[in-house]
Amino acid sequence: MIPSLDVSTWDGLKTCDAKRAWALVGDAAGFVDPLTGEGIYYAIKSADLLARAIVNRVEDFDEMWRAEFGAELRRAAELQHRFYRGNFAGAPLTERMVQFARRHRGVREALRDLIAGDQGYVGLKSRLLRSALSFT
Ligand SMILES: Cc1cc2nc3c(=O)[nH]c(=O)nc-3n(C[C@H](O)[C@H](O)[C@H](O)COP(=O)(O)OP(=O)(O)OC[C@H]3O[C@@H](n4cnc5c(N)ncnc54)[C@H](O)[C@@H]3O)c2cc1C
Repeated sequence: MIPSLDVSTWDGLKTCDAKRAWALVGDAAGFVDPLTGEGIYYAIKSADLLARAIVNRVEDFDEMWRAEFGAELRRAAELQHRFYRGNFAGAPLTERMVQFARRHRGVREALRDLIAGDQGYVGLKSRLLRSALSFT
């Protein structure tokens, strides 16, 4: 697994100190998706948010990235161990997800949207459950 922040670190993460004149963006701040290891989007987005914060009120930066993508990355950190090390009906969860996706259109569409960035981690579980239980 690619190193990434755990849930407790997300909760207390501070990426800016206006008095000491420092701030972190991208990998340096830990803005990497704990499930996929992707960080390019978060590096660019956090730099953009920091630039806006510097122009307005730099103290707001932590609040800004939390509102933009913090909950998503924290949720991904929560799912990481279940996703890669978890078992479902006697097989690794990732294997079961591929099997489900092959057979079930709703599950397949949810995973497609996840990879495309149209479905977040927040709400993924309930959508997968809804999809798996409907037979359309
Ligand atoms: C093998 C691999 C594959 C990846 N694949 C993907 C992917 O498919 N999709 C995705 O979204 N993310 C991917 N990532 C993650 C992505 O590359 C990073 O999250 C992203 O590049 C972070 O951007 P950054 O600007 O924060 O840091 P970086 O891109 O690491 O930029 C930091 C820069 O600072 C420079 N630097 C360091 N120290 C100093 C110094 N003292 N003085 C001056 N310059 C310095 C470095 O040389 C570097 O150029 C991958 C990472 C790896 C390692």
